[in-house]
Amino acid sequence: MMSDVCKHCVQAGCLEVCPTGAIIRTEFDTVVIQEDVCNGCRDCIAACPFGVIEINRSRRRPRSAPCATTA
Ligand code: SF4
Ligand code: SF4
Repeated sequence: MMSDVCKHCVQAGCLEVCPTGAIIRTEFDTVVIQEDVCNGCRDCIAACPFGVIEINRSRRRPRSAPCATTA
């Protein structure tokens, strides 16, 4: 069964492909998207094997629903 909860992967595909550095690992080992640094390329959506990143429709930027965002 697929889960819609972010796993905060040790090797996070989303973080590795992000061209702007918008996805970071925090001091608490959680992976978060900084929406103010995101350019909307959506590469992270394809890179997440669990399909947990969704689009914030109001801003047309990806966001990972289970991840805390700093924006
Ligand atoms: S968004 Fe996906 S790839 Fe990124 S840390 Fe969460 S589960 Fe892993
Ligand atoms: S959509 Fe934003 S957070 Fe996702 S890979 Fe592109 S710049 Fe990074």
